[in-house]
Amino acid sequence: MEAELARFEAALEKTERELLALKRSVEERIGSRESDIFTAQAWVVRDPSLNEKVRAAVREQQVNAEAALSQVIEGFTNAFDTVGDPYLRERAADVRDVGRRVLGALLQERGAKCPDIPEGSIVVAEELLPSVTANLELNQVQGFVTERGGKFSHSSILARSMGTPAVAGIAEAARLIKTRDQIIVDGVSGVVFVNPEPRVESEYERLDAEFRAYKDGLQQLVSLPSVTADGTPIALLANVNKFPDTEAAFLYQADGIGLYRTEFGFSIRSAFPTEDEQYEFLKRAAERLHPRPIAFRLLDVGGDKQLPYFPLPPSRNPSLSERGVRLLLKHPAVLKAQLRAFLRVSADHPVGILLPVVGGVEEIRGIKAVIAELMAELASQGKPFNPRVPVGAMIEIPSAALMAETMADEVDFFSLGTNDLVQYLLAADREDESPVPYYEPLHPAVLRLIRSVAEVAGRAGRPLTICGEMAGDPQYTELLLGLGLRRFSVSPGEILGVKRAIRVAKLDAANVLAERALAMRSVAEIRALLSSPPSTTPTGDAAPRSTPGSLNALTRGI
Ligand code: PEP
Ligand code: MG
Repeated sequence: MEAELARFEAALEKTERELLALKRSVEERIGSRESDIFTAQAWVVRDPSLNEKVRAAVREQQVNAEAALSQVIEGFTNAFDTVGDPYLRERAADVRDVGRRVLGALLQERGAKCPDIPEGSIVVAEELLPSVTANLELNQVQGFVTERGGKFSHSSILARSMGTPAVAGIAEAARLIKTRDQIIVDGVSGVVFVNPEPRVESEYERLDAEFRAYKDGLQQLVSLPSVTADGTPIALLANVNKFPDTEAAFLYQADGIGLYRTEFGFSIRSAFPTEDEQYEFLKRAAERLHPRPIAFRLLDVGGDKQLPYFPLPPSRNPSLSERGVRLLLKHPAVLKAQLRAFLRVSADHPVGILLPVVGGVEEIRGIKAVIAELMAELASQGKPFNPRVPVGAMIEIPSAALMAETMADEVDFFSLGTNDLVQYLLAADREDESPVPYYEPLHPAVLRLIRSVAEVAGRAGRPLTICGEMAGDPQYTELLLGLGLRRFSVSPGEILGVKRAIRVAKLDAANVLAERALAMRSVAEIRALLSSPPSTTPTGDAAPRSTPGSLNALTRGI
C-alpha cells in the first residue's frame, strides 16, 4: 500500500513537471492566454481534496493507484458535468485531462506504455483515441468495439486504416463487456456478439473462411491496372494517417497518396513536432512512395479533433467551430512550421499541399500568401523547394462545392471530402453514434453536389480526387464513376476491393446508373437502385469496416 502511495506521488510530480513545461512551450508558440490552461491544470494536480480522496481509496479499498484515481476522477467530473454552469463544466474537462495524464504517468512508470494485450484480443473502449491506439500492440488486436462514434467518425477511420474489424456506437459496451468474454465483432453488419451460442460461432467461422478466401482472391489484383472494363484508367490512391499506411499503400501499389492526414502524427505527441521533425517523417513517406505523388494535408484540428497541447476555446457546437486552415491562419507559427516542412520535402518529391476546411477563396488566398512568404524565406536561406508546388483545396463545405468554379482559378487540384461534406450539407453530425439516418451519403442532394463539383473540375481542368469514406466502399464505385469521378483515394486496405469494382464497371452503364440515381427523390429509392443491378462486387462489401452497430438480440447473454 505504501508503495502504491509512493507511485502515486511520483506520478503527480511527473505530471506537474510536464504541465509546466507544456505551459512554457504553448506560451512561446501560441500565447500566454492559451497557456494559462496548463497553469490551471497544474493546480488540479496539487488539489488537496483530490489527492486525499485517491489516498483514502488506496488505503481503504486496497486497490492500486490507477483504479483509485480513475474512480475519484469519475466522481469529480460527474459532479461537475451535471451542473448548468458552462465554466464549471469546462473545469470537469480539465480534471478529466489531468486524470488521464497522471494515469499515463503511472502506466509508464510500470514500464508498460499500455496494457499487455494477449494475442487475439478484442479491445473494448469508450473511444479510440489516436494517442492511445498508437501505443497499442496492434498486431495482437483482432477487433475493436467502441461506445462513441459511427462509421464516418475519426476513430472509425483510424480502425479502418488498420484493417481491423471494428464496430462503433455500442452504448455502454465498456461496462457491459467483461475481460475474458468471448466476442464476435461483425464489422460488416455492425453487430457485436458477446458469449455467442455455438451455432452463431460456427456460422461466423464459416463467414470468416469465406472472407479470407475473398481477401486471398483480391491479392491477385495487386499488380493489375486500375482500369474500367471498357478501358478507362482510374487513379487509385491511398489515404494515409500514419507511417505504416504508407507501407501498405506501397505494397498494394497505390498510384500515390491522395490524402495524407497529418493530424494523426501530431496527436500521438505530447507537444508540437518541430519543423525538422515534421520534415523527417514526411520525407520518409515521400521517399517510400517516390516517384508517386503525395498530397500532404495541412493540420485539420479544431472541433472534435483536439490536440492535448493546443488548447482551444470551448465551443458550443464543435463541428461548427474553427477548424483546418481557418484555425491555422490564426496560428501562424504552427502553420509556417508545417508549410516549411512540406516545401522542403517538395524539393525532391512530387508533393502537393492540400488545404482542409476551405469555405471559399479567402482561405486559399490567405494560405497562398504565407506559402509565397515562406518560399522567399527558404530561398534566402538556400534551402531547396519546388517553386511550383501544386496547392489544392478540400471540397468539404457546401460553400466550397458551390464556389468550385471560382476556386479553380486559385488552386491546382481539388479533393472531395465527402465525410464532412455530407455532415455540413445535411446538418448531421458525422461523430454521432445514435443510429439516426440523417447522415446519409446517398442523399440525392449529396449526389447532385458531387456531380456538380465533378463537372466544374472537369471543365476547369483541375484534377478532382474523392477521398471521403464513400470512395472506399465498393458498393458506391460504379455510381461515383457515373457521377464523373476518375480519381479515388481510399484506406490502403480498401484499395483492392475498389480496384475490383473499377475493373468490372463499364462507364456507359455507370452513367446510366448515375442518371437514374440523380432522378430519384429519396435515399430509400437510391439505396434500392444500388442493390438491384448485378452488383460489381458479388460478395458485397466484405472488407472489414467500422460500422455503427448495436448489441443485438443475440447478445442478450451479457
Ligand atoms: C472528409 O471530410 O471527407 C475527409 C476526407 O477528411 P476527414 O475525414 O479527415 O475530415
Ligand atoms: Mg474532412
